[in-house]
Amino acid sequence: MLNLSVLLESTARAHPDRTAVVSGEQTISYAELDRKARQLAEAVRARGVRPGDRVALICPNLPEFPVVYFGLLKAGAVVVPLNPLLKERELEFIFGDSGAVAVFAWEGSEQLPVLDTARRAAAAAPGTPEVIALGELADLLAPHPGTAATEPTGAEDPAVIIYTSGTTGTPKGATLSHVSLLLNARMKELLIPKHDHDVVLVALPLYHIFGQTSVLNGNIHGGATLVLLPRFDPGTALDLLIEHRVTLFSGVPSMFQAFLQVDPDGVRLRKAAETVRLITSGGAPLPVAVFERFDRLCGLQIRQGYGLSETSPTVTFCPWDEPIRPASVGKPVWGVDIQVFDHQDQPVPAGTVGEIVIRGHCLMLGYFNRPEATAEAIRDGWFHTGDLGRFDEDGWLYVVDRLKDLILRGGYNVYPAEVEQVLLQHPSVAMTAVVGQPHERLGQEVVAYVVPRTGHEVDVEELSAFARERLAEYKYPRRIIVQDELPMTSTGKILKRALP
Ligand code: AMP
Repeated sequence: MLNLSVLLESTARAHPDRTAVVSGEQTISYAELDRKARQLAEAVRARGVRPGDRVALICPNLPEFPVVYFGLLKAGAVVVPLNPLLKERELEFIFGDSGAVAVFAWEGSEQLPVLDTARRAAAAAPGTPEVIALGELADLLAPHPGTAATEPTGAEDPAVIIYTSGTTGTPKGATLSHVSLLLNARMKELLIPKHDHDVVLVALPLYHIFGQTSVLNGNIHGGATLVLLPRFDPGTALDLLIEHRVTLFSGVPSMFQAFLQVDPDGVRLRKAAETVRLITSGGAPLPVAVFERFDRLCGLQIRQGYGLSETSPTVTFCPWDEPIRPASVGKPVWGVDIQVFDHQDQPVPAGTVGEIVIRGHCLMLGYFNRPEATAEAIRDGWFHTGDLGRFDEDGWLYVVDRLKDLILRGGYNVYPAEVEQVLLQHPSVAMTAVVGQPHERLGQEVVAYVVPRTGHEVDVEELSAFARERLAEYKYPRRIIVQDELPMTSTGKILKRALP
């Protein structure tokens, strides 16, 4: 008997009156959040949701997210959190694939009519799941006192299914158990010094595993106050960091780059740094130039972690008691084994690049209803990440790039992340994405898309010469294209697939 919602229950007992969630003008205490989650559990039971049933949740970072998330877990249901930007066709696929029996959907807006889209998708999906509007949550909860017991789920029972595109492009549901998520949520206790009452800015989307485990679950367990930001905007985020005297912030690298763009002199960042005690980055490579600019500007050193949806997610983090190595994602966390394998699935020595593979309590149970895809990803107990990396002699891990982003130019391997790191050292460059484009003779050519820093212009000739001085002949970008912005996923990762 173990249920992930114990995270909320134990904090609600220890700190009932403490503010759990701040959202605009609204605040919710831990006792209230737990009571609402229990009411939700009773409401869905009354509607016939049984333990093990899958229920989708389409919601940005609003207080309804933790109410429904923990409520469904308490009822023993399996939560399928989904991005509100998904289109009707994508939702229909996921509703069918997961066999969802019900869907909680946020209303959305005129430009983004989420509820309508969810209704159309549900009507077309096999099983036609019932759609419940989050706007009607108060009515749904009202008749229930919120006193019922939590469903005694088994540690290895599924708790959450995270849909990920993986390497093939077809979304697959990474099925995560109660115990995997619980251990990952409690990782913070082992990784950073304790603090009586943290205040956390929640800018990462909660439907994504990074926001869900490292930010929501970890901090609910720690009794923190969570300040929700429904849609990331660097100016608003800086205001909230200062206004709420935030102590913890987790983001993806593009968020840190955006802070540097809107606050190039670091005035607001320095103010925020008066209370912030830890900044973490994950989800994509953090350019060393961004780490250095941040450190120089406000004295905050960004600590990296690395993980995937399939690993609940955190598998490495920068140790607290050692100087940070900015290019590294840190060392394996407690209870997780990481190796670097060659093409024959044999471990390679420190310093050699190969595929990062992972074993341990954090692994998904499998891709939902996809035994073949699961067997391909988890071989001999090792989950194959599709990421290239290497260890140094001291056991720090470096993520070199994604296997599928690797550029093969005239028979040579070019790691886009390495070229990006160099371009970002140039003072005129704020962001960049390096990709391979088809080339008749060489197979692929190295092409860089570049976004200028606020107040700077990019001189393509000069930047090209800068790169050429620092990179081998086969690596430097032959074409540099200057753009105002780069295509991003809603989680803030650069969407290389969308570049021409
Ligand atoms: P997702 O399943 O959406 O969380 O994406 C996982 C992928 O994000 C990994 O396979 C990596 O390619 C990438 N990733 C996560 N953390 C890092 C990091 N610290 N550095 C580089 N890449 C990362």
